[in-house]
Amino acid sequence: MDRYSAIRLIREGLNGHKGWGRIWRGATPKASYDVVVIGGGGHGLATAYYLAKIHGITNVCVIEKGWIGGGNSGRNTTIIRSNYLFDASAAIYNHALELWKGLGRELNFNIMMSHRGVLNLAHDEHEARGLKRRVEANRLNGVDAEWLDAKQVKEFCPVINISHDIRYPVLGATLQRSGGVNRHDAVVWGYARAASALGVDIVEQCEVTDIRTEAGAVTGVETTKGFIRTPKVASVTAGHTSVMAKMVGVKLPIESHPLQALVSEPIKPLVPCVIMSNAVHVYCSQSDKGELVIGAGIDAYNSYTQRGSMDIIEHQMSSLCELLPVVSRLRMMRQWGGIVDTCPDASPIITKTKVKGFYINGGWGTGGWKATPGSGHAFADLVARDEPNAIAAPFTVDRFYSGDLVAEHGAAAVAH
Ligand SMILES: Cc1cc2nc3c(=O)[nH]c(=O)nc-3n(C[C@H](O)[C@H](O)[C@H](O)COP(=O)(O)OP(=O)(O)OC[C@H]3O[C@@H](n4cnc5c(N)ncnc54)[C@H](O)[C@@H]3O)c2cc1C
Repeated sequence: MDRYSAIRLIREGLNGHKGWGRIWRGATPKASYDVVVIGGGGHGLATAYYLAKIHGITNVCVIEKGWIGGGNSGRNTTIIRSNYLFDASAAIYNHALELWKGLGRELNFNIMMSHRGVLNLAHDEHEARGLKRRVEANRLNGVDAEWLDAKQVKEFCPVINISHDIRYPVLGATLQRSGGVNRHDAVVWGYARAASALGVDIVEQCEVTDIRTEAGAVTGVETTKGFIRTPKVASVTAGHTSVMAKMVGVKLPIESHPLQALVSEPIKPLVPCVIMSNAVHVYCSQSDKGELVIGAGIDAYNSYTQRGSMDIIEHQMSSLCELLPVVSRLRMMRQWGGIVDTCPDASPIITKTKVKGFYINGGWGTGGWKATPGSGHAFADLVARDEPNAIAAPFTVDRFYSGDLVAEHGAAAVAH
């Protein structure tokens, strides 16, 4: 793998940038693999990378029906935080946050990680009490979290209006300083490059159309580029998780919904951190290009189209104007949608199934980006050893039969 460095950049600059090679190898599928990962998003590529790097399983193929990162990984608003309420969630999201911290160096790829802090605003006493409780729970789990009163919120993020005479006054906020944003494409490309260098095949424009089983065990996948034999299939297909599971007769309590986001025209630095508000129901951050990156809730109906409807955008915009009236004349530049797979308890499913060799990592809903490295790390471990590790264990599909849910609707909050 070509090493990237400042010296290399200068050298290439002087030579007209003619020496850069392909970031990952293009591959035609082989007849068989030890593991086939379906889905070339961040989670799938991270899974393949950790399978190769940690478990030494390099005979792996990642199959992507479009282009890598063309699903939710390339469509999300990249908010990263780990301040969830329950121990199980804190463990997996904080594991991810720790991995994010060194990921750019590990992958030798600039993922533009920015730990600029995430604010969750409270607009009434009830909300403030709930958020303070979450701060305490976070601290017990080693998650960095603090409570800011309104004056401290203003100091941290001057654009926020803390007057008392507005419809949704800001009473305070939680702050996770290590939270922030990064660059989604870079993460996907960084994982693809590192996985490919370790021997993983990445096959794009290839759809899995069926999964073959014999005597209750996986034997291979049918694809638009032919049949591939494998004893292990790892499905990491976000909005299509239940479609994959149906191919082997596994039923999941998952619903697929559109989730939209949009960006404004670029402006001077205005929003120094990530601002989220449950009550008003919108969140925003500012990209390095100066655009405000804005998101809110899912469209209520089920759909597999990667677009949503106007009323959500209208709601999103009125919420943003409520929160930051100063942006009311900004023009919006682009809008897009993804398909998110939501679980009843707003927590993911990382599980083996009744079909031997068929594993699922999905149900991350509106908030899986932040988990990408932790999810790939834990899932690779499950696929390699056929046993969930401590971090993944609470997220098996069995919890929907036992009732041992990880109910994170409060912390999952405004979709992100
Ligand atoms: C608008 C929006 C905003 C979001 N904002 C945030 C945020 O701020 N923070 C956060 O933490 N999360 C956020 N999310 C959620 C986050 O994007 C996802 O949870 C996460 O990216 C899922 O990653 P993934 O790799 O599992 O899925 P994806 O990136 O969707 O990858 C799955 C891949 O599987 C492929 N696939 C599907 N079916 C097949 C098949 N039959 N054969 C081959 N390939 C197949 C798809 O083409 C796709 O590329 C947001 C999502 C959206 C849509």
